[in-house]
Order: sequence, then structure tokens, then C-alpha cells
Amino acid sequence: MGYRKSKISHMLTKVDMLGMSSFDVVVIGGGIVGLASARALILRHPALSIGVLEKEKDLAIHQTGHNSGVIHSGIYYKPESLKAKLCVQGAALIYEYCKQKGISYKQCGKLIVAVEQEEIPRLQALYERGRQNGVQGLRLIQQEDIKKKEPYCRGLMAIDCPYTGIVDYRQVALSFAKDFQEAGGFVLTNFEVKDIELAKESPSRSKDGMKYPIVIRNTKGEEVQCQYVVTCAGLYSDRISELSGCNPDPRIVPFRGDYLILKPEKCYLVKGNIYPVPDSRFPFLGVHFTPRMDGSIWLGPNAVLAFKREGYRPFDFSARDIMDVIIKSGLIKLVFQNFSYGVNEMYKACFLSATVKHLQKFIPEITVSDILRGPAGVRAQALDRDGNLVEDFVFDGGVGDIGNRILHVRNAPSPAATSSLAISGMIADEVQQRFKL
Ligand SMILES: Cc1cc2nc3c(=O)[nH]c(=O)nc-3n(C[C@H](O)[C@H](O)[C@H](O)COP(=O)(O)OP(=O)(O)OC[C@H]3O[C@@H](n4cnc5c(N)ncnc54)[C@H](O)[C@@H]3O)c2cc1C
Repeated sequence: MGYRKSKISHMLTKVDMLGMSSFDVVVIGGGIVGLASARALILRHPALSIGVLEKEKDLAIHQTGHNSGVIHSGIYYKPESLKAKLCVQGAALIYEYCKQKGISYKQCGKLIVAVEQEEIPRLQALYERGRQNGVQGLRLIQQEDIKKKEPYCRGLMAIDCPYTGIVDYRQVALSFAKDFQEAGGFVLTNFEVKDIELAKESPSRSKDGMKYPIVIRNTKGEEVQCQYVVTCAGLYSDRISELSGCNPDPRIVPFRGDYLILKPEKCYLVKGNIYPVPDSRFPFLGVHFTPRMDGSIWLGPNAVLAFKREGYRPFDFSARDIMDVIIKSGLIKLVFQNFSYGVNEMYKACFLSATVKHLQKFIPEITVSDILRGPAGVRAQALDRDGNLVEDFVFDGGVGDIGNRILHVRNAPSPAATSSLAISGMIADEVQQRFKL
């Protein structure tokens, strides 16, 4: 950490000293998607000057630093979707990258377990989907084999997915930042983008206005200029798109996910990842048992509407964030269509015993006294005006002088951390094509 901070401040000083506030490409957002993209761009175009702008003082502290840490295999996603393609590719790339860089990971596998008879057809369909997506090593297994893999887990049938793993995504993201900086890229932290507009000088009269026609200003009034912009702002992707004059839709709706932690003396109950059969109406995978790289076991996350973007505590509240989703998104329709699901998730978030009852369907030995409340993450989930949760990753540009120079990452929820290297390859292709680099 200390090294990275000093490296970043060294870079900032260098920016100031050289008076470099102009970049060929600026990436907004220093999460795993932004950092992977910046890295891919500079490795492909070493002669370009590229800057990453991040509003926090540290990198990768939002979704990238608050997630389950699972390297997903790609089983869940609609065949041919971007998620299916980029997750399968991305998982292989993350394993390879971690090996190369000496970043610890564990390929500890995963069981998706049907505990009710009625879940079996959905489990079988999921298995077929995984095979179609090209996920390696999948097997449908019965009760006896579930016990061999997870001695304390009960279930009627399961998908055994040995390719799934775990990693610390913040560590991976910081390693992307290091690669980027070593290749000559600049990271500007404490830079909260507030305006994106065309340079005031007429492009025909000013040399700089012609070369760097976009001005990006932060909340302190400081500016950088650039030719092209890639936005990877996670929970703020809609606001950043709107302030660049591009489409405000789809809106981001923040969904908090709370985790519970198994007490250390009970960690023997779980060996690898244990997941439920997901509810196909939602892009969330359901409360699961996940080993962490530090040896602890997390249970979660649930999915409750957050009253604040980046609001990690249940009572964090922002009137603007709430009004935004109520007025400008299809949230009301979503709530009406899924009222009982929402109430149930809120109930489980409030009462530990309700979550434990759900967990006992998988591991009957778990009791309320075995668990502690843990951290939470907030998902940036795009929602369209009709109240539909946008399933796939969404990338788009805009029209006009600014829109023609911007590529927005609009929806990059799970498994975007797994897929980050594959997404970055796609973004580098897109940038090259759109902006004729
Ligand atoms: C609870 C939870 C569990 C998850 N589990 C998994 C999992 O197991 N496996 C998996 O693959 N994925 C998982 N995900 C999804 C994964 O974490 C995200 O898809 C991924 O981290 C998205 O990365 P990002 O860079 O787009 O967003 P972020 O990490 O949120 O980064 C966006 C960055 O943009 C910055 N920013 C925003 N606005 C501005 C501005 N105005 N100016 C400058 N900077 C700005 C933010 O400060 C932030 O650093 C999970 C997510 C959550 C929340």
C-alpha cells in the first residue's frame, strides 16, 4: 500500500512539474474496469499520453473493493451475451495474470446446489447453459457426491464447477494500476469529475483547443484537457454520461449486499463456494457461502435497495440519490412487479435468524450464534425506464462533438471483476475503431 501511494503521489508531482494537464485519452474511474482499460490502452498505444481520474484518494475502493471475490466461470449468463463471452474469456485471463504476477488466488471450485425438488429442472437448464457457454469441467452430481465435496452440505443435486476460484480483486486492480504507471500512464486521485465540456477556445484558433478539444473539470475547479474519454464510473456511470451530454438512460439503481461472517471455529463447515439455484428473474446470484483469501468464510450478499450510492450502512441516505431513482428510473415499476421479493430481502437483512433459516437449507448445522455481521457492498445495477434490470454489460458512445469522442461503460455489474481483462481488450478495440487511433 505504502509503495503504491508514494508511487501515485510521485506521478502526481510529475504531472504538476511538467505542467501536463493534457492527455490523448482520459479514463474516468479508478476501479478494476477503468484500471484494466487504461492498462490495455497504454500497452497497445505506448506513444499516447493516458490519464486515469479517480475521485477518491485511493484506487479501487468501491465495488472493486467490496465484493465476493469470486472468479466466476461463466455458467449463468445467456449464451452469446457479452457477459457469457467476456466472463469465460476473463476468468482464463485473470488466472493467467495472477500466475504471472504472483497474486494469490485459489481455484477452490463451486457447487450450485438444488435443495428443493422444484429447483432441479432449473439446475439442469443452468448446467446446459454452462456447457453452451464453454465452461470447463462442469458435472451434474447427486447427493453422495455433494457430501464428498462438501461434507456438511445437504442437497438433492448440484452442479460441480471446479473452474470457479477466489481472489482479492482490489489487489488485482492495484496491480493493473502499477502496470499502467510503469508503462508511462498517469493516475490522478482526489479528482472528482464534475463537468465535461468542449474547450472554450475555438478549435480553429487555438492549437491546444484543436488537439485537446475536451475539458474535464473537477469539483475544485481544476481541469485536464484531452482528445478522447472512456468512462468507467461504476455507481455514477449514468451521471457521468449525463454530464457529458450523452444518454442518461439506463439509470443506475444501487443495490446493497450485506455479508455475514462465519466465526473462525465454524469455518470447517465450508470448503469451497456453495451457491443456491438462482432466481432467474434477477441478475443476483443469491446468498452464497464463499471462502475468502484470508481463510474466513463470508455468507451473502443479499440484495436490498440502497438509499445512497456508495452507502455501505443500512441507514446511509441521500435525498438526491433516492429522488433520482424514483423519478428518473423505472424503479416504481420494478418495486410493484417484485414487491414480495423486496420485502423478503429487507426482512432477511433486518433479522439474522431469517437469513440463517435460509442458510440451514444448505448447511443445517449453522446457527445464529455461529455468525457475525460483516461488511457490505453496493452494486451498480442499470435499470431501464420500463423497470427492467439491464442484464448484460452495456457500452455506448454518444453523438455530437463530445459524444463522438466518448465511450461509456454503462452497466458493468458482476461478473465484471472476473471479466475485467476481457472487457479491457474489448474497450481497447472499440477505442481504436471509434477514434481511429
Ligand atoms: C456485493 C458485490 C459482490 C460482487 N461479487 C463479485 C464477484 O464475486 N465476482 C465478480 O466478478 N464481480 C463481483 N461483483 C461485481 C464487481 O465488483 C464489479 O462489477 C466491478 O468491481 C466493477 O468495477 P468498476 O471499475 O466498473 O466499478 P468500481 O469499482 O465501482 O469503480 C468505479 C470508480 O469510479 C469512480 N468514480 C465515480 N464517479 C467519479 C467521478 N465523478 N470522478 C472520478 N471518479 C469517479 C469511483 O470512485 C470508483 O473508484 C460484485 C459486486 C458487489 C457490489
